[in-house]
Amino acid sequence: MNTLTGQRTRTITGYVYTLLEYPRILIERDVDFSHCRHGGVFDPDEPECVSCEFGNACRWLNRHRATSLDEATLAELIDALTAAADYLQKTTRHDRHCDCETCKWLLEARGFLRHRPDET
Ligand SMILES: [Zn+2]
Repeated sequence: MNTLTGQRTRTITGYVYTLLEYPRILIERDVDFSHCRHGGVFDPDEPECVSCEFGNACRWLNRHRATSLDEATLAELIDALTAAADYLQKTTRHDRHCDCETCKWLLEARGFLRHRPDET
């Protein structure tokens, strides 16, 4: 299967992992930590974090940092992919004929999620 980056991946896990690189770069760029008192570490018990405008993106990044993805199961990767697709869908409101990188990514991610393999 060919991914957006043109790399061939041999496994489904590898494929999803590669697919997650794009939202990770994008979300990392989106979130502005310069005024964050928590150093960009999401704390679910902190009301400030919950109401923060970057809260959702920050939570995603903290849950799915590269290190944890390396050991993630397919189910966790699919979970991360679903959350990333939902996030990008919400923040990117382009019409359905748009073919920018984000819309192309969303199309590929949604396509994969619709036909995803059994998580066994
Ligand atoms: Zn677009």
